[in-house]
Amino acid sequence: METDTIAAISTPVGEAGIAVIRVSGPESIPIVDTLYKGKASLKEADTHTVHYGHILEPKSGDTIDEVLVTVMKKPRTFTREDVVEISCHGGMVPVQGVLEALLSAGARLAEPGEFTKRAFLNGRIDLSQAEAVIDLIRSKTDRAARVAMHQAEGRLSRLVRRLRQEILEMLAHLAVNVDYPEYDAEEMTAQLLLDRVRSIGKEIDGLLVTARQGKIFREGIATVIIGRPNVGKSSLLNALAQENKAIVTEIPGTTRDVIEEYVNVRGIPLRLVDTAGIRETEDVVERIGVERSHQALNEADLVLLLLNYAEPLDEDDRQLLRLIREHSAIVVVNKTDLEPELDVGEVKELIGDLPLITTSLKEERGLDQLEEAISDLFMEGKARSADATYVSNARHIHLLQQARQNVDDAIRGIESEMPLDMVEIDLKNAWESLGEIIGDAVAEDLIDQIFSQFCLGK
Ligand code: GDP
Ligand code: ZN
Repeated sequence: METDTIAAISTPVGEAGIAVIRVSGPESIPIVDTLYKGKASLKEADTHTVHYGHILEPKSGDTIDEVLVTVMKKPRTFTREDVVEISCHGGMVPVQGVLEALLSAGARLAEPGEFTKRAFLNGRIDLSQAEAVIDLIRSKTDRAARVAMHQAEGRLSRLVRRLRQEILEMLAHLAVNVDYPEYDAEEMTAQLLLDRVRSIGKEIDGLLVTARQGKIFREGIATVIIGRPNVGKSSLLNALAQENKAIVTEIPGTTRDVIEEYVNVRGIPLRLVDTAGIRETEDVVERIGVERSHQALNEADLVLLLLNYAEPLDEDDRQLLRLIREHSAIVVVNKTDLEPELDVGEVKELIGDLPLITTSLKEERGLDQLEEAISDLFMEGKARSADATYVSNARHIHLLQQARQNVDDAIRGIESEMPLDMVEIDLKNAWESLGEIIGDAVAEDLIDQIFSQFCLGK
Protein backbone atom coordinates (compact mmCIF):
# COMPACT_ATOMS: atom_id res chain seq x y z
CA MET A 1 0.00 0.00 0.00
CA GLU A 2 1.34 3.40 -0.97
CA THR A 3 1.23 5.87 1.86
CA ASP A 4 3.03 8.96 0.62
CA THR A 5 1.24 12.13 -0.38
CA ILE A 6 0.90 12.97 -4.05
CA ALA A 7 0.04 16.16 -5.90
CA ALA A 8 -0.74 17.14 -9.48
CA ILE A 9 -2.57 19.68 -11.57
CA SER A 10 -5.89 18.06 -12.32
CA THR A 11 -7.37 20.51 -14.81
CA PRO A 12 -6.11 20.94 -18.37
CA VAL A 13 -3.16 23.28 -18.42
CA GLY A 14 -3.73 26.33 -20.56
CA GLU A 15 -6.28 29.03 -21.02
CA ALA A 16 -8.75 27.87 -18.38
CA GLY A 17 -9.85 30.53 -15.93
CA ILE A 18 -9.05 28.51 -12.87
CA ALA A 19 -6.89 25.48 -12.27
CA VAL A 20 -7.27 22.82 -9.63
CA ILE A 21 -4.33 21.17 -7.95
CA ARG A 22 -5.19 17.98 -6.16
CA VAL A 23 -3.26 16.60 -3.21
CA SER A 24 -3.97 13.16 -1.78
CA GLY A 25 -2.43 11.14 1.02
CA PRO A 26 -2.02 11.05 4.78
CA GLU A 27 0.01 14.28 4.89
CA SER A 28 -2.09 16.26 2.44
CA ILE A 29 -3.71 18.54 5.01
CA PRO A 30 -0.54 19.39 7.00
CA ILE A 31 1.48 19.86 3.77
CA VAL A 32 -0.98 22.35 2.32
CA ASP A 33 -1.32 24.00 5.71
CA THR A 34 2.39 24.90 5.80
CA LEU A 35 1.89 26.96 2.62
CA TYR A 36 -1.57 28.31 3.38
CA LYS A 37 -2.40 31.61 4.97
CA GLY A 38 -6.02 32.21 5.83
CA LYS A 39 -8.32 32.85 8.74
CA ALA A 40 -7.53 29.59 10.48
CA SER A 41 -5.28 26.59 10.16
CA LEU A 42 -6.52 23.92 7.77
CA LYS A 43 -5.74 21.33 10.41
CA GLU A 44 -8.80 22.50 12.30
CA ALA A 45 -11.04 22.44 9.23
CA ASP A 46 -14.06 20.16 9.12
CA THR A 47 -14.27 17.69 6.30
CA HIS A 48 -15.74 18.83 3.00
CA THR A 49 -15.31 22.54 3.65
CA VAL A 50 -13.92 25.33 1.47
CA HIS A 51 -11.47 27.95 2.71
CA TYR A 52 -10.39 31.24 1.22
CA GLY A 53 -6.78 32.33 1.57
CA HIS A 54 -3.36 32.60 -0.05
CA ILE A 55 -0.59 30.18 -0.89
CA LEU A 56 2.81 31.53 0.06
CA GLU A 57 6.23 30.68 -1.25
CA PRO A 58 7.75 28.76 1.67
CA LYS A 59 11.21 30.36 1.67
CA SER A 60 10.47 33.99 0.80
CA GLY A 61 6.96 34.14 2.20
CA ASP A 62 5.79 35.87 -1.00
CA THR A 63 2.22 35.30 -2.10
CA ILE A 64 2.00 32.90 -5.04
CA ASP A 65 -1.73 33.08 -5.56
CA GLU A 66 -5.10 33.78 -4.04
CA VAL A 67 -6.85 30.45 -3.64
CA LEU A 68 -9.84 28.45 -2.49
CA VAL A 69 -8.85 25.34 -0.62
CA THR A 70 -11.21 22.40 -0.26
CA VAL A 71 -10.48 20.00 2.57
CA MET A 72 -11.88 16.49 2.29
CA LYS A 73 -11.04 13.92 4.90
CA LYS A 74 -11.07 10.20 4.28
CA PRO A 75 -12.92 7.99 3.66
CA ARG A 76 -15.51 9.99 1.71
CA THR A 77 -13.11 11.07 -1.03
CA PHE A 78 -12.23 9.87 -4.51
CA THR A 79 -9.04 8.17 -3.35
CA ARG A 80 -10.38 7.29 0.10
CA GLU A 81 -7.42 9.23 1.49
CA ASP A 82 -7.33 12.76 2.86
CA VAL A 83 -7.65 15.02 -0.17
CA VAL A 84 -7.04 18.74 -0.52
CA GLU A 85 -7.94 20.59 -3.68
CA ILE A 86 -6.48 24.00 -4.33
CA SER A 87 -8.30 26.17 -6.87
CA CYS A 88 -6.03 28.90 -8.11
CA HIS A 89 -5.87 31.25 -11.09
CA GLY A 90 -5.42 29.40 -14.34
CA GLY A 91 -2.17 30.88 -15.65
CA MET A 92 0.97 28.79 -15.94
CA VAL A 93 2.90 30.85 -13.39
CA PRO A 94 0.62 30.57 -10.34
CA VAL A 95 -0.24 26.95 -11.09
CA GLN A 96 3.35 25.85 -11.44
CA GLY A 97 4.28 27.98 -8.44
CA VAL A 98 1.71 26.32 -6.18
CA LEU A 99 2.66 22.86 -7.41
CA GLU A 100 6.37 23.47 -6.83
CA ALA A 101 5.66 24.81 -3.36
CA LEU A 102 3.73 21.62 -2.58
CA LEU A 103 6.58 19.47 -3.81
CA SER A 104 9.11 21.33 -1.72
CA ALA A 105 6.81 20.97 1.29
CA GLY A 106 6.90 17.18 1.03
CA ALA A 107 4.40 16.06 -1.57
CA ARG A 108 5.47 13.92 -4.48
CA LEU A 109 4.42 14.60 -8.07
CA ALA A 110 1.72 12.07 -8.93
CA GLU A 111 2.27 9.68 -11.78
CA PRO A 112 -0.30 9.64 -14.56
CA GLY A 113 -3.42 7.91 -13.28
CA GLU A 114 -2.14 7.63 -9.74
CA PHE A 115 -5.19 9.23 -8.12
CA THR A 116 -7.48 6.81 -9.91
CA LYS A 117 -5.13 3.96 -9.11
CA ARG A 118 -5.39 4.78 -5.42
CA ALA A 119 -9.17 4.93 -5.72
CA PHE A 120 -9.00 1.43 -7.17
CA LEU A 121 -6.48 0.06 -4.69
CA ASN A 122 -8.48 1.47 -1.79
CA GLY A 123 -11.61 -0.19 -3.06
CA ARG A 124 -13.40 3.00 -4.01
CA ILE A 125 -13.89 1.91 -7.64
CA ASP A 126 -13.31 -1.32 -9.51
CA LEU A 127 -11.09 -1.82 -12.51
CA SER A 128 -13.76 -1.44 -15.17
CA GLN A 129 -14.77 1.85 -13.59
CA ALA A 130 -11.18 3.03 -13.54
CA GLU A 131 -10.81 2.15 -17.20
CA ALA A 132 -13.98 4.08 -17.92
CA VAL A 133 -12.33 7.14 -16.45
CA ILE A 134 -9.66 6.82 -19.14
CA ASP A 135 -12.34 6.62 -21.81
CA LEU A 136 -14.15 9.58 -20.35
CA ILE A 137 -11.04 11.70 -20.56
CA ARG A 138 -10.50 10.67 -24.16
CA SER A 139 -14.04 10.69 -25.43
CA LYS A 140 -14.70 12.60 -28.62
CA THR A 141 -18.43 13.27 -28.40
CA ASP A 142 -20.96 13.83 -25.64
CA ARG A 143 -22.49 10.52 -26.43
CA ALA A 144 -19.20 8.70 -26.12
CA ALA A 145 -18.67 10.47 -22.84
CA ARG A 146 -22.05 9.32 -21.62
CA VAL A 147 -21.23 5.72 -22.45
CA ALA A 148 -17.99 6.01 -20.51
CA MET A 149 -19.79 7.75 -17.69
CA HIS A 150 -22.26 4.93 -17.33
CA GLN A 151 -19.42 2.49 -17.09
CA ALA A 152 -17.68 4.72 -14.59
CA GLU A 153 -20.85 4.69 -12.53
CA GLY A 154 -20.49 0.96 -12.40
CA ARG A 155 -23.16 -0.35 -14.74
CA LEU A 156 -20.96 -2.90 -16.41
CA SER A 157 -19.59 -3.86 -13.01
CA ARG A 158 -23.07 -4.49 -11.65
CA LEU A 159 -23.97 -6.69 -14.62
CA VAL A 160 -20.77 -8.65 -14.31
CA ARG A 161 -21.21 -9.04 -10.55
CA ARG A 162 -24.71 -10.38 -11.01
CA LEU A 163 -23.52 -12.95 -13.57
CA ARG A 164 -20.74 -14.03 -11.24
CA GLN A 165 -23.19 -14.37 -8.40
CA GLU A 166 -25.39 -16.65 -10.51
CA ILE A 167 -22.42 -18.78 -11.47
CA LEU A 168 -21.38 -18.96 -7.85
CA GLU A 169 -24.81 -20.20 -6.82
CA MET A 170 -24.66 -22.90 -9.47
CA LEU A 171 -21.24 -23.91 -8.27
CA ALA A 172 -22.59 -24.17 -4.75
CA HIS A 173 -25.43 -26.42 -5.88
CA LEU A 174 -23.04 -28.51 -7.91
CA ALA A 175 -20.68 -28.90 -4.98
CA VAL A 176 -23.52 -30.24 -2.87
CA ASN A 177 -24.56 -32.64 -5.64
CA VAL A 178 -21.02 -33.83 -6.27
CA ASP A 179 -19.91 -34.14 -2.68
CA TYR A 180 -23.14 -35.41 -1.16
CA PRO A 181 -24.92 -37.33 -3.92
CA GLU A 182 -27.24 -38.88 -1.32
CA TYR A 183 -28.39 -35.42 -0.22
CA ASP A 184 -31.04 -34.33 -2.68
CA ALA A 185 -32.93 -31.54 -0.96
CA GLU A 186 -32.94 -29.33 -4.05
CA GLU A 187 -31.27 -31.41 -6.63
CA MET A 188 -29.65 -29.60 -9.51
CA THR A 189 -30.80 -31.75 -12.38
CA ALA A 190 -28.75 -31.75 -15.55
CA GLN A 191 -31.64 -30.09 -17.36
CA LEU A 192 -32.00 -27.32 -14.81
CA LEU A 193 -28.27 -26.74 -14.84
CA LEU A 194 -28.23 -26.64 -18.62
CA ASP A 195 -30.99 -24.04 -18.68
CA ARG A 196 -29.21 -21.79 -16.26
CA VAL A 197 -25.82 -22.06 -17.93
CA ARG A 198 -27.40 -21.33 -21.31
CA SER A 199 -29.12 -18.28 -19.96
CA ILE A 200 -25.81 -16.96 -18.66
CA GLY A 201 -24.29 -17.58 -22.09
CA LYS A 202 -27.09 -15.51 -23.64
CA GLU A 203 -26.46 -12.64 -21.26
CA ILE A 204 -22.78 -12.62 -22.12
CA ASP A 205 -23.71 -12.64 -25.81
CA GLY A 206 -25.93 -9.67 -25.17
CA LEU A 207 -23.00 -7.74 -23.77
CA LEU A 208 -20.77 -8.79 -26.64
CA VAL A 209 -23.31 -7.49 -29.14
CA THR A 210 -22.83 -4.03 -27.68
CA ALA A 211 -19.10 -4.29 -28.29
CA ARG A 212 -19.29 -3.11 -31.90
CA GLN A 213 -21.29 -0.11 -30.83
CA GLY A 214 -18.98 0.50 -27.94
CA LYS A 215 -15.95 0.42 -30.19
CA ILE A 216 -17.60 2.98 -32.44
CA PHE A 217 -18.16 5.35 -29.55
CA ARG A 218 -14.68 4.80 -28.31
CA GLU A 219 -12.60 4.96 -31.44
CA GLY A 220 -14.85 6.64 -33.93
CA ILE A 221 -15.83 5.39 -37.36
CA ALA A 222 -12.89 5.36 -39.73
CA THR A 223 -14.32 7.22 -42.68
CA VAL A 224 -12.86 7.85 -46.14
CA ILE A 225 -14.29 10.24 -48.67
CA ILE A 226 -13.55 9.27 -52.25
CA GLY A 227 -14.51 10.48 -55.68
CA ARG A 228 -13.13 12.09 -58.79
CA PRO A 229 -11.38 15.47 -58.59
CA ASN A 230 -13.70 18.42 -58.21
CA VAL A 231 -16.75 16.43 -57.23
CA GLY A 232 -16.94 18.14 -53.82
CA LYS A 233 -14.91 16.08 -51.35
CA SER A 234 -13.31 19.04 -49.64
CA SER A 235 -16.65 20.81 -49.60
CA LEU A 236 -18.28 17.82 -47.90
CA LEU A 237 -15.51 17.59 -45.37
CA ASN A 238 -15.80 21.27 -44.60
CA ALA A 239 -19.57 21.11 -44.36
CA LEU A 240 -19.42 18.21 -41.92
CA ALA A 241 -16.70 19.87 -39.92
CA GLN A 242 -18.40 23.24 -39.83
CA GLU A 243 -21.70 21.92 -38.69
CA ASN A 244 -20.18 19.61 -36.16
CA LYS A 245 -17.04 21.25 -34.88
CA ALA A 246 -14.16 19.15 -36.02
CA ILE A 247 -11.65 17.96 -33.49
CA VAL A 248 -8.25 17.63 -35.09
CA THR A 249 -5.73 15.25 -33.67
CA GLU A 250 -2.26 15.16 -35.07
CA ILE A 251 -0.48 11.90 -34.76
CA PRO A 252 3.21 12.55 -34.39
CA GLY A 253 5.86 10.02 -35.20
CA THR A 254 4.23 8.62 -38.31
CA THR A 255 6.16 8.66 -41.56
CA ARG A 256 3.92 11.32 -43.00
CA ASP A 257 2.12 13.73 -40.76
CA VAL A 258 -1.23 12.03 -40.71
CA ILE A 259 -3.96 14.25 -39.47
CA GLU A 260 -6.99 12.70 -37.90
CA GLU A 261 -10.07 14.78 -37.81
CA TYR A 262 -13.15 13.87 -35.84
CA VAL A 263 -16.55 15.20 -36.60
CA ASN A 264 -19.53 14.52 -34.44
CA VAL A 265 -22.48 13.25 -36.47
CA ARG A 266 -25.47 12.85 -34.17
CA GLY A 267 -23.27 11.67 -31.38
CA ILE A 268 -21.21 9.33 -33.53
CA PRO A 269 -17.59 10.32 -33.86
CA LEU A 270 -16.50 10.04 -37.49
CA ARG A 271 -12.76 9.70 -37.75
CA LEU A 272 -11.98 11.15 -41.15
CA VAL A 273 -8.98 9.38 -42.48
CA ASP A 274 -6.42 10.99 -44.70
CA THR A 275 -8.11 14.35 -44.68
CA ALA A 276 -4.74 15.99 -45.17
CA GLY A 277 -4.72 14.52 -48.67
CA ILE A 278 -8.19 15.78 -49.40
CA ARG A 279 -7.52 19.19 -47.99
CA GLU A 280 -4.55 19.61 -50.28
CA THR A 281 -6.98 19.20 -53.19
CA GLU A 282 -5.27 15.95 -54.09
CA ASP A 283 -7.82 13.26 -54.22
CA VAL A 284 -7.33 9.70 -53.21
CA VAL A 285 -7.94 8.17 -56.63
CA GLU A 286 -5.67 10.51 -58.46
CA ARG A 287 -2.91 10.23 -55.94
CA ILE A 288 -2.78 6.56 -55.23
CA GLY A 289 -4.82 5.04 -58.04
CA VAL A 290 -7.86 2.83 -57.91
CA GLU A 291 -5.77 -0.23 -57.07
CA ARG A 292 -4.44 1.18 -53.86
CA SER A 293 -7.58 2.97 -52.86
CA HIS A 294 -8.88 -0.58 -52.54
CA GLN A 295 -6.61 -0.93 -49.54
CA ALA A 296 -7.71 2.39 -48.07
CA LEU A 297 -11.27 1.17 -48.38
CA ASN A 298 -10.48 -2.06 -46.61
CA GLU A 299 -9.28 -0.17 -43.58
CA ALA A 300 -12.36 2.04 -43.47
CA ASP A 301 -15.55 1.45 -41.51
CA LEU A 302 -17.43 3.87 -43.75
CA VAL A 303 -16.87 4.97 -47.34
CA LEU A 304 -18.51 8.08 -48.72
CA LEU A 305 -18.34 8.01 -52.51
CA LEU A 306 -19.14 11.28 -54.20
CA LEU A 307 -20.50 11.52 -57.74
CA ASN A 308 -21.12 14.61 -59.81
CA TYR A 309 -24.76 15.12 -60.80
CA ALA A 310 -23.67 17.43 -63.60
CA GLU A 311 -21.41 14.93 -65.36
CA PRO A 312 -22.01 11.50 -66.86
CA LEU A 313 -20.47 8.50 -65.15
CA ASP A 314 -16.97 7.76 -66.35
CA GLU A 315 -14.83 4.64 -66.05
CA ASP A 316 -13.26 5.83 -62.76
CA ASP A 317 -16.72 6.30 -61.25
CA ARG A 318 -17.84 2.85 -62.37
CA GLN A 319 -14.74 1.23 -60.97
CA LEU A 320 -15.24 2.95 -57.63
CA LEU A 321 -18.91 2.00 -57.59
CA ARG A 322 -17.98 -1.62 -58.08
CA LEU A 323 -15.27 -1.36 -55.46
CA ILE A 324 -17.51 -0.05 -52.71
CA ARG A 325 -20.21 -2.67 -53.07
CA GLU A 326 -18.53 -4.92 -50.57
CA HIS A 327 -18.08 -2.12 -48.05
CA SER A 328 -20.19 -0.13 -45.68
CA ALA A 329 -20.70 2.76 -48.06
CA ILE A 330 -22.99 5.64 -48.90
CA VAL A 331 -23.16 7.13 -52.40
CA VAL A 332 -23.53 10.89 -52.41
CA VAL A 333 -24.67 12.49 -55.66
CA ASN A 334 -23.56 16.09 -55.34
CA LYS A 335 -24.15 19.28 -57.30
CA THR A 336 -27.87 18.70 -57.74
CA ASP A 337 -28.25 22.43 -58.24
CA LEU A 338 -26.73 21.98 -61.72
CA GLU A 339 -28.21 20.54 -64.92
CA PRO A 340 -28.40 16.74 -64.65
CA GLU A 341 -26.01 14.70 -66.77
CA LEU A 342 -25.67 11.71 -64.48
CA ASP A 343 -27.67 8.55 -65.13
CA VAL A 344 -28.91 8.01 -61.59
CA GLY A 345 -30.69 4.83 -62.69
CA GLU A 346 -27.40 3.29 -63.73
CA VAL A 347 -25.85 4.28 -60.42
CA LYS A 348 -28.66 2.60 -58.50
CA GLU A 349 -28.23 -0.54 -60.53
CA LEU A 350 -24.54 -0.63 -59.77
CA ILE A 351 -24.85 -0.12 -56.02
CA GLY A 352 -27.70 -2.49 -55.22
CA ASP A 353 -28.76 -1.98 -51.62
CA LEU A 354 -26.32 0.77 -50.67
CA PRO A 355 -27.96 4.03 -49.66
CA LEU A 356 -27.90 6.92 -52.12
CA ILE A 357 -28.19 10.51 -51.01
CA THR A 358 -28.44 13.62 -53.16
CA THR A 359 -26.84 16.86 -52.05
CA SER A 360 -26.05 20.31 -53.17
CA LEU A 361 -23.23 21.32 -50.92
CA LYS A 362 -23.23 24.71 -52.60
CA GLU A 363 -26.82 25.32 -51.57
CA GLU A 364 -26.39 23.45 -48.32
CA ARG A 365 -28.98 20.85 -49.15
CA GLY A 366 -28.94 17.15 -48.34
CA LEU A 367 -26.49 17.16 -45.45
CA ASP A 368 -29.24 16.26 -42.97
CA GLN A 369 -30.23 13.22 -45.01
CA LEU A 370 -26.60 12.17 -45.24
CA GLU A 371 -26.22 12.39 -41.46
CA GLU A 372 -29.42 10.43 -41.04
CA ALA A 373 -28.08 7.71 -43.35
CA ILE A 374 -24.82 7.53 -41.41
CA SER A 375 -26.66 7.27 -38.15
CA ASP A 376 -28.90 4.53 -39.60
CA LEU A 377 -25.87 2.52 -40.62
CA PHE A 378 -24.14 2.60 -37.28
CA MET A 379 -26.74 2.98 -34.58
CA GLU A 380 -28.49 -0.22 -33.85
CA GLY A 381 -31.97 0.19 -32.41
CA LYS A 382 -30.78 -0.14 -28.87
CA ALA A 383 -27.98 2.35 -29.38
CA ARG A 384 -30.51 5.11 -29.81
CA SER A 385 -31.39 4.92 -26.19
CA ALA A 386 -28.69 6.75 -24.38
CA ASP A 387 -29.05 4.46 -21.40
CA ALA A 388 -27.76 1.22 -22.82
CA THR A 389 -24.65 -0.32 -21.34
CA TYR A 390 -21.88 -0.80 -23.84
CA VAL A 391 -18.75 -2.83 -23.69
CA SER A 392 -16.11 -0.84 -25.46
CA ASN A 393 -12.85 -1.74 -23.85
CA ALA A 394 -10.76 -4.31 -25.74
CA ARG A 395 -9.70 -5.99 -22.52
CA HIS A 396 -13.30 -6.38 -21.39
CA ILE A 397 -14.35 -7.74 -24.77
CA HIS A 398 -11.57 -10.28 -24.69
CA LEU A 399 -12.51 -11.43 -21.19
CA LEU A 400 -16.19 -11.67 -22.08
CA GLN A 401 -15.30 -13.81 -25.08
CA GLN A 402 -13.20 -15.97 -22.83
CA ALA A 403 -16.05 -16.32 -20.34
CA ARG A 404 -18.39 -17.16 -23.21
CA GLN A 405 -15.98 -19.91 -24.27
CA ASN A 406 -15.88 -21.28 -20.72
CA VAL A 407 -19.67 -21.28 -20.58
CA ASP A 408 -19.79 -23.03 -23.95
CA ASP A 409 -17.44 -25.70 -22.65
CA ALA A 410 -19.70 -26.16 -19.65
CA ILE A 411 -22.76 -26.49 -21.88
CA ARG A 412 -21.05 -29.07 -24.05
CA GLY A 413 -19.91 -30.92 -20.95
CA ILE A 414 -23.43 -31.15 -19.56
CA GLU A 415 -24.89 -32.15 -22.92
CA SER A 416 -22.41 -34.99 -23.34
CA GLU A 417 -23.01 -36.10 -19.76
CA MET A 418 -19.52 -35.48 -18.57
CA PRO A 419 -18.87 -35.87 -14.87
CA LEU A 420 -20.18 -32.83 -13.04
CA ASP A 421 -16.83 -31.95 -11.52
CA MET A 422 -15.54 -31.31 -15.06
CA VAL A 423 -18.42 -28.91 -15.63
CA GLU A 424 -17.57 -27.31 -12.34
CA ILE A 425 -14.11 -26.45 -13.63
CA ASP A 426 -15.51 -24.72 -16.73
CA LEU A 427 -17.91 -22.70 -14.63
CA LYS A 428 -15.15 -21.73 -12.24
CA ASN A 429 -13.13 -20.53 -15.23
CA ALA A 430 -16.05 -18.44 -16.44
CA TRP A 431 -16.38 -16.95 -12.97
CA GLU A 432 -12.69 -16.05 -12.99
CA SER A 433 -12.74 -14.55 -16.49
CA LEU A 434 -15.60 -12.31 -15.47
CA GLY A 435 -13.77 -11.44 -12.28
CA GLU A 436 -10.86 -10.03 -14.21
CA ILE A 437 -13.15 -7.44 -15.78
CA ILE A 438 -13.80 -5.83 -12.43
CA GLY A 439 -10.29 -6.42 -11.17
CA ASP A 440 -10.75 -9.32 -8.83
CA ALA A 441 -7.37 -10.99 -8.70
CA VAL A 442 -5.68 -8.99 -11.42
CA ALA A 443 -1.92 -9.19 -11.64
CA GLU A 444 0.07 -6.20 -10.40
CA ASP A 445 1.74 -5.49 -13.76
CA LEU A 446 -1.58 -5.41 -15.58
CA ILE A 447 -2.80 -2.85 -13.11
CA ASP A 448 0.28 -0.71 -13.73
CA GLN A 449 -0.22 -1.03 -17.45
CA ILE A 450 -3.82 0.07 -17.26
CA PHE A 451 -3.15 3.08 -15.08
CA SER A 452 -0.16 4.22 -17.11
CA GLN A 453 -2.61 5.19 -19.88
CA PHE A 454 -3.98 8.05 -17.84
CA CYS A 455 -2.95 11.62 -18.21
CA LEU A 456 -1.36 13.47 -15.35
CA GLY A 457 -3.50 14.62 -12.48
CA LYS A 458 -6.27 12.05 -12.81
P1 GDP B 1 -12.89 17.97 -54.49
O1 GDP B 1 -11.82 18.15 -55.50
O2 GDP B 1 -13.61 16.69 -54.70
O3 GDP B 1 -12.39 18.11 -53.11
O4 GDP B 1 -13.99 19.11 -54.75
P2 GDP B 1 -14.14 20.49 -53.99
O5 GDP B 1 -14.86 20.34 -52.74
O6 GDP B 1 -12.81 21.15 -53.92
O7 GDP B 1 -15.12 21.25 -54.97
C1 GDP B 1 -14.78 21.52 -56.31
C2 GDP B 1 -15.63 22.70 -56.81
O8 GDP B 1 -17.02 22.34 -56.83
C3 GDP B 1 -15.54 23.90 -55.90
O9 GDP B 1 -15.48 25.06 -56.71
C4 GDP B 1 -16.84 23.86 -55.13
O10 GDP B 1 -17.26 25.15 -54.71
C5 GDP B 1 -17.79 23.29 -56.10
N1 GDP B 1 -18.94 22.59 -55.51
C6 GDP B 1 -18.93 21.76 -54.43
N2 GDP B 1 -20.19 21.33 -54.18
C7 GDP B 1 -20.99 21.90 -55.10
C8 GDP B 1 -22.40 21.84 -55.35
O11 GDP B 1 -23.19 21.17 -54.69
N3 GDP B 1 -22.86 22.55 -56.43
C9 GDP B 1 -22.05 23.32 -57.20
N4 GDP B 1 -22.58 23.98 -58.21
N5 GDP B 1 -20.73 23.40 -56.96
C10 GDP B 1 -20.19 22.71 -55.94
ZN1 ZN C 1 -10.74 19.04 -52.78
